[in-house]
Amino acid sequence: MPSSRLAPIMQVNADLHIHSKYSMATSPKMDLPTLAEESRKKGIQLVATGDCLHPAWLAEIKKLKEENGVFKLNDTRFILTTEVEDINQVHHLLIIPSVSKAQELYEFMKPRSKDIDSNGRPNVRFDGVEIAQAAHDAGALIGPAHAFTPWTAMYAYHNSLKDCYGDMADKIYFLELGLSADTSYADRISELHCLTFLTNSDAHSPYVNKLAREFTRFEMEDISFDELKMAIIREKGRKPVLNVGIPPEEGKYNESACIRCYRHYTLRESVIKSWTCSCGGTIKKGVKDRVNELAAYNKPKHPAHRPPYLHLIPLSEIIAMALGVTGTNTKGVQGIWNALVGRYGSEVAVLVDADIKNSGVDERVINAIIAFREGKVKVHPGGGGQYGRVELSAQPVNKNNCEPQKSLFDF
Ligand SMILES: [Zn+2]
Ligand SMILES: [Zn+2]
Repeated sequence: MPSSRLAPIMQVNADLHIHSKYSMATSPKMDLPTLAEESRKKGIQLVATGDCLHPAWLAEIKKLKEENGVFKLNDTRFILTTEVEDINQVHHLLIIPSVSKAQELYEFMKPRSKDIDSNGRPNVRFDGVEIAQAAHDAGALIGPAHAFTPWTAMYAYHNSLKDCYGDMADKIYFLELGLSADTSYADRISELHCLTFLTNSDAHSPYVNKLAREFTRFEMEDISFDELKMAIIREKGRKPVLNVGIPPEEGKYNESACIRCYRHYTLRESVIKSWTCSCGGTIKKGVKDRVNELAAYNKPKHPAHRPPYLHLIPLSEIIAMALGVTGTNTKGVQGIWNALVGRYGSEVAVLVDADIKNSGVDERVINAIIAFREGKVKVHPGGGGQYGRVELSAQPVNKNNCEPQKSLFDF
């Protein structure tokens, strides 16, 4: 056997934040066999277990064959992760090296958690510093989850990593962008330039329109905890090479807007109106304006290590949009989905990698997928709790205050 040093670098699509059937408001089908099967269809090789402090869920995970910190079920590898809510309502994502370390963290947190045995995403009475210290002691990686959302997120309650994690801030190696932000938002904030950005789905349902709707592609030599850790820290040639996620403007709190009538306001207008709409409703600060408050730069400054960001929505939604139909459960949409995934092997292959020009499906669908790959879609921003809307258009769209989206073809 050749030395592993000569092993070729492999590309691994990873979704590192999901929730199991033991979290609130999740599908009862969030079980390991369904997740493994849906990951294969989606084209994800490494998926988070989520909720690994939950005793019943951990017991199910432990039954799988473990190798180097990952658990194998058919072609899918699972890695131990959990999300916890701290005493300040900030959510943290932890990536944990082993069952015994997950059990140690459970023992540490249990005395200060009322729901750790009942909720897959426990509330714990520790602050960010204490949780980061415990994670570090357990050899786990930790970072802020969906960092920019207006609730339960680091930048909702803190103005900096240091403010949240104190002296542990230099042990934070990643930040999860969340569905409402992308690289062009986060790279306007100078303290984030040294971090790896993760794009994860935070899925509560296992099916391919939710699972890995955001994912990160890494280059590593094998799928193991140590390889993933090196890829997140960007050591020895391991690194993230692509972030994939939905357009942030599609998020329902993208721009500041009234939660009653959905009228949109700029940050300046909102301040002048004391965050009260002309209709009397409350104006909710959008992610875009939160980034405007925190930003050191008007335009993103991408560090050299930052991979491109590809804006995508699930394949069935692109097909429905291209055909001009509402709903993705129609025979026509499902027929094309099956034809494409059957031919190219997975949804990610169809959306990101395959040469689909001669796929033989409806030309409008091919053109729509290519439009997404090239960043030529128009997004009407959401706000105030109302989702944004994606529209196919012929011309590339310049977004407010942001550079045009870098497409894969710029690299
Ligand atoms: Zn969360
Ligand atoms: Zn209003």
